[in-house]
Amino acid sequence: MVDPVARNARDSAGAADSPRRGCVFCEILAGRAPGFIVHQNDLAVALLDINPLARGHCLVIPRRHVPWWHELTEAETTAAFQLARTTATRIMAVFQPEFVAMYVRGRRIPHTHIFLVPTSQGEPFDRHCNALEGFQEGVAALARLQDRDQLAQVQQRLGRA
Ligand SMILES: [Zn+2]
Repeated sequence: MVDPVARNARDSAGAADSPRRGCVFCEILAGRAPGFIVHQNDLAVALLDINPLARGHCLVIPRRHVPWWHELTEAETTAAFQLARTTATRIMAVFQPEFVAMYVRGRRIPHTHIFLVPTSQGEPFDRHCNALEGFQEGVAALARLQDRDQLAQVQQRLGRA
């Protein structure tokens, strides 16, 4: 039986022009490495993250090797984000998290991947995001502590103590 993913990768416009040897996503799309494909369209593929942050955590990748999402063509962008939405809807139906968080990277594996993380309160990823948001707010709070008048007041109070 012909692997439908590999066949589609070869048949899709743009897919065969730049597969990268050594890129795990290109290897999966070419059928040379295993992948847990869950859904696909002409220009993008949804598959499971093999290091999931939560049950049902998926990645959506373009068929073409493109490091950053803002370098995708308009058609690829539409296809990838439509597939992300459809996949998120399925994640919601099957695993019933509160919502599906999305972020996009291409850093460690330089092939755009949209993270779809089923998220519920108190789970590790939710705590991570809350900590990051707390950090963002904390920077402003720490900057206020650097104010010279504030430092002088602290100096006086501690000097009197
Ligand atoms: Zn690639």
